[in-house]
Amino acid sequence: MNTKTKFNIWYVFIALWGVILIHEVWARMTQIQEISYSQFQTYLAGGRIQEIRITQNYINGILKDPKENEPKQFITVRVAADFAEALATHKVKFSGQIESTFIRDLLSWVVPALVFVGIWIFAMRRFAEKQGLGGGFMSIGKSKAKIYLEKEVKVTFADVAGVDEAKTELQEVVEFLKTPEKFSRLGGRIPKGILLVGPPGTGKTLLAKAVAGESGVPFFSISGSEFVEMFVGVGAARVRDLFEQAKQKAPCIIFIDELDALGKARGVMTSGHDEREQTLNQLLVEMDGFDTRVGVILMAATNRPEILDPALLRAGRFDRQVLVDRPDKSGRLAILRVHAKGVQLAPSVDLEVIAAMTVGFAGADLANILNEAALLAVRGEKEAVDTSDLQEAVERVIAGLEKKNRVLNRQEKERVAYHEVGHALVALNVSGADPVQKISIIPRGVAALGYTLQLPTEDRFLMTKSELENRIAVLLGGRVAEELIFNEASTGARDDLVKVTDIAKSMVKAYGMSDKLGKVSFDRNHQPLFLQNGQGLAPADYSDDIAREIDLEVRRIVDSQYERTTAILKANTESLHKAAGVLLSKETISGVELSAIVTSTGNTHGAGDAVGMAVAASSS
Ligand code: ADP
Ligand code: ZN
Repeated sequence: MNTKTKFNIWYVFIALWGVILIHEVWARMTQIQEISYSQFQTYLAGGRIQEIRITQNYINGILKDPKENEPKQFITVRVAADFAEALATHKVKFSGQIESTFIRDLLSWVVPALVFVGIWIFAMRRFAEKQGLGGGFMSIGKSKAKIYLEKEVKVTFADVAGVDEAKTELQEVVEFLKTPEKFSRLGGRIPKGILLVGPPGTGKTLLAKAVAGESGVPFFSISGSEFVEMFVGVGAARVRDLFEQAKQKAPCIIFIDELDALGKARGVMTSGHDEREQTLNQLLVEMDGFDTRVGVILMAATNRPEILDPALLRAGRFDRQVLVDRPDKSGRLAILRVHAKGVQLAPSVDLEVIAAMTVGFAGADLANILNEAALLAVRGEKEAVDTSDLQEAVERVIAGLEKKNRVLNRQEKERVAYHEVGHALVALNVSGADPVQKISIIPRGVAALGYTLQLPTEDRFLMTKSELENRIAVLLGGRVAEELIFNEASTGARDDLVKVTDIAKSMVKAYGMSDKLGKVSFDRNHQPLFLQNGQGLAPADYSDDIAREIDLEVRRIVDSQYERTTAILKANTESLHKAAGVLLSKETISGVELSAIVTSTGNTHGAGDAVGMAVAASSS
């Protein structure tokens, strides 16, 4: 017997004991016997009655020293006095119909039974909690615990900004939910399933909710990952239950977040995840089984559409995909404006500047910035949120929170300072690198010991070969500076090297930027999984010789940038020492201060013309 059943049996014993006890008490309290009125009169005449209580229809009484088979308490029907007298003189045995004691008897069982059931449920809950099964035993197969139903959604399209294309596409769904008759009359078919595809935090959930809000229909939501954590068969039962509930509330929207957790391609993982597969199958069955005319629209979100089981994407299932991408600058501005509504901004604040700084940020990050900035303003006891709060908030979101309590020793600090200044000086000296905003050796986030903050000034969609090379050079700047000064490398450049390698590889394999290998793509793994052979990555469709050449080319690109970087930093050694010294004492220096230091040393200073593709916070 395992602990889990032992645990249960304990509760069963307690419950049983409770039932018996309660029944006993109840019975004792209710040992009242019904007697005839004539019997009552006899007792009365015999002076046997200790006391009585008269209600409108009954007489309750207690007998003095009841004998065997005589009741201690009795009840009888109350009779009008003159009538009772008449009955007595004619010696009529009279008893009244006291309303059935059936209810009372029943109660004497029902109450303990309810207590018993209560204890049982409590025990099961406790047990389930102990086992970490949130919803509890009683709710197995019933998804009520985890389906979130919002009957009235307050979110509207006005709350979602920067994703205008997606909104336009979803407008049709809103129309349909508002007037389904119009669509069915014209024979139009609305897509059953709409898949929102995009990176985390871009507002997919928000959009789905807004569709419900705009249409004024209930919104069911559940996360794909919640389907799979239960026992085999439970997920499938939940799917069934979800659709059952939704059909009753139609028109409505069902939203499944993290569809990929549930809808991973079957058979890719050899370990055959039965539960997930059953759940997925049930979802497919339900999707095929319902008719959009009932007014249920299924929406789902994923940031990894390529790993979804192709069956999910077939016609009649999630046959409409809506891209919800990271916003561009005007989108970011719009999102900032939406979230700034609840925040007291100083009149001097120009949100456009913040929008320009936040290339690559998703809506959730932008919302977070305003929130952080408001907190900072409160901490600074300011009247309103000003630009410096917003800038600090941007940095926080980029690099994680300042961790002043992580103490580096003196040598480590020195090394980090040279490393970061190395990045920054290279950025100053190659054309087209993102301008350096700030260098810091205050450790931030989980891994960064220091960082160089380069903020692009505009969105970029293309990069040229030389821009990619410059980016490699900037990334190598940290490592090169360390080697120049300390004659030895450290582990601090790990992330930089990963990025360097990725860029160089893409140049060779994807962008045809290697003269040696030519304008050929060797990069087939961007294909969706269902076009592959089912075992993860596609086999390389080039020979081992080519593979070797690719590796050599990658090496060559990195090596030549390494040499270039070394040359740049050697020419700037004085600036390197000076800036690192200032950085060590001040912990942070701005891009402007860095430029001033470089100018004062008379080192070369070929300031970049301020273009870049993404926010780069190169960690030490
Ligand atoms: P996703 O589902 O794509 O991961 P969410 O919809 O959960 O992202 O977004 C999280 C939060 O971020 C939202 O509640 C909202 O406050 C904010 N947000 C994200 N995208 C946007 C947007 N496009 N417009 C306004 N706010 C947004
Ligand atoms: Zn670095």
